[in-house]
Amino acid sequence: MKLAMRITLCFLGFAQFAWGQTDGNSKMTSAEATAPELSANSYAVLGATPEQDALVRAQIRIMQPEVLPLRILFVPHWKYIEAARIFHLHVPTGYTSALFTHLASRSIFVDSDRYMGEEWLGYRMAHELGHLSSNNTKEEDAEKAAREYRKRLKQARIKAR
Ligand SMILES: [Zn+2]
Repeated sequence: MKLAMRITLCFLGFAQFAWGQTDGNSKMTSAEATAPELSANSYAVLGATPEQDALVRAQIRIMQPEVLPLRILFVPHWKYIEAARIFHLHVPTGYTSALFTHLASRSIFVDSDRYMGEEWLGYRMAHELGHLSSNNTKEEDAEKAAREYRKRLKQARIKAR
């Protein structure tokens, strides 16, 4: 319990840090988002390697989601599990997801211990961005948006060849 508390505080610390960085306009879709507004193109990537940071930003630029995350957190597996628990996320036993989105804070968590490279990340990130765009937790809605994002990723890969 104590551990969980500390992690919560840790995430809050991250959040304040990120929110303190920039100001400007943004499309705030969640009524619960009471933080100062960020500029539409500004979001924080935390805990990633420089390669992962560059990659995830490039992928999101290509996917052009209607709603950007406020922060993307790459965390080790134990922390990922803790974060899911703190946010009362229902993660079925044996569920293979290594990313989840907390809609109210527009935070996307990535289990960095299960990170498997560019295509792996792009495919799953598309789904999480789908949750943000549809602003709900329904998997079908997220997938519907994700299909379009994946198409854009694929086209960009073809062009790059
Ligand atoms: Zn989902």
